[in-house]
Amino acid sequence: MNSIPRVTFQDGKSIPQLGLGVFAMQDGKEVREAMEFAFNEGYRSIDTATIYGNEKGVGQAIEESRIPRERIFLTTKVWNNDQGYDSTLGAFQKSMDILGVDYIDLYLIHWPVNGKYIDTWKALEKLHQDGLIRSIGVSNFQVHHLETLFKSAKITPVVNQIEQHPYLVQKELRDFCTQHDIKIEAWSPLGRGAVLDDQTLVRLGQKYGKTSAQVALRWQIQHDIITIPKSSKPERIKENISIFDFSLEQGDMDIIDGLNRNHRIGPDPDNFNFGF
Ligand code: NDP
Repeated sequence: MNSIPRVTFQDGKSIPQLGLGVFAMQDGKEVREAMEFAFNEGYRSIDTATIYGNEKGVGQAIEESRIPRERIFLTTKVWNNDQGYDSTLGAFQKSMDILGVDYIDLYLIHWPVNGKYIDTWKALEKLHQDGLIRSIGVSNFQVHHLETLFKSAKITPVVNQIEQHPYLVQKELRDFCTQHDIKIEAWSPLGRGAVLDDQTLVRLGQKYGKTSAQVALRWQIQHDIITIPKSSKPERIKENISIFDFSLEQGDMDIIDGLNRNHRIGPDPDNFNFGF
């Protein structure tokens, strides 16, 4: 079984550096089978969100796995139209009920909804204080969102989950987060498939006897980034975790850094208008 290194947050808790993203997996059979296979391969971290509509299946798969709850790291996120203090408290309780768990390891603000995310953060701080969330963090926050949050936050986010892959390296945002000990977690780490045919990654894969997907994920691991590739296919779930038996040379890390095109797969956090 694969053994995954852990990343320690500034609050003392830790997360496996690689987890399974479950965006776009159907609730029920698809997500349960993917998680069962992933658990058997050694995955222990699951990244879901209220908007994915599969928290029920995620909770069932955790229960069916018979893995002790404390050995599993569970992330979910408050959706944009639930933001604000009271509505976040309500949305959180609903997520807990659907998941069928009595605590969440990491709860994230999914997107920085202007005029709302400060109050949403206050609700996360309260839930954290009440012991219902072990760690609290944000997603899709730019530097200016974090700077605004810092003015009133009692707790610093432990994580900023952002789009990050070889075509969107996000060096400045990563450096800012590192200065504040906010860990970077990469969503769409494979560019939702867009980087897999990149000839540089393919060639590096041949050099190390790995696939382009494995090279992209390994590059994140060596940058101390937490990564959550999504696949519902057993062979790919296995492929994506089989990245802890090789290391990229520094020169090859630099080559992958140089693939950056500032190319986004998903929305721009400074210009989105959905879900609220
Ligand atoms: P990924 O970069 O993880 O790519 C997933 C796609 O690549 C799927 O189509 C999958 O297909 C395919 N794939 C996975 N592994 C391989 C492989 N080894 N070889 C070839 N193809 C592969 O994209 P996601 O957007 O899903 O991001 C990952 C996770 O990040 C999400 O599941 C979600 O948890 C989180 N996320 C968070 C967001 C946020 O705003 N905070 C936004 C978007 C995602 P198949 O399943 O058929 O194998």
